[in-house]
Amino acid sequence: MSNQLTIALSKGRIFKDTLPLLKAAGIEPLDDPDTSRKLILETTQPNVRLLVVRTTDAPTYVSYGAADLGVAGKDVLMEAPSDNLYELLDLQIAKCRLMVAGPVEERPHGHRLKIATKYVNSARAYYAAQGQQVDLIKLYGSMELAPLIGLADRIVDLVDTGNTLKANHLKPLEHIADISSRLIVNQHAYKTKYQQIQQIIEKFNTVIGK
Ligand code: AMP
Repeated sequence: MSNQLTIALSKGRIFKDTLPLLKAAGIEPLDDPDTSRKLILETTQPNVRLLVVRTTDAPTYVSYGAADLGVAGKDVLMEAPSDNLYELLDLQIAKCRLMVAGPVEERPHGHRLKIATKYVNSARAYYAAQGQQVDLIKLYGSMELAPLIGLADRIVDLVDTGNTLKANHLKPLEHIADISSRLIVNQHAYKTKYQQIQQIIEKFNTVIGK
């Protein structure tokens, strides 16, 4: 049985904030992910490698077993639940909130609210739970633009400091969920590589939230 362990991570905030956790587990990439163009990074542990993936793709790699472990935002996991994986640990990194936001000066609207978002499934579930009928408009980025230009009345997006909203004359209105990154594992890998994965979790736990 192979003791090769593959971990899927996205570049940027998640990669940066996961590095100290990996380091505690004795895993350090041999190349700097910020400057290297490699998508498979070898590490100081010869049997552990890191895959550099798009944030929304991390659960897919883990779900299909192409990666044993991965790090994914709760926003991604909520929006597109995947089969064959467990959410093992709240890493308490890349924290933010999924929120409804709208113009600082609300315009009167006699129609069903139009909501622009990348998170259509999460938004649909939220408004259904509120018993509120809305029209959802899927966007892939720059959601803040939609209310400014009259495409939508409100947006559902991630908010951290609130600076992006403020800069676009928007304000947070309703809190949908607290978001942070989670350690996910392929269910089969969790059985077959249990000891190896548990050791990593124990080491991660020594630094989480510190
Ligand atoms: P802020 O201006 O600090 O409120 O950040 C908001 C912008 O950063 C929005 O465009 C969000 O989509 C993005 N953002 C904030 N926190 C996160 C996160 N934890 N993961 C991914 N994107 C985020």
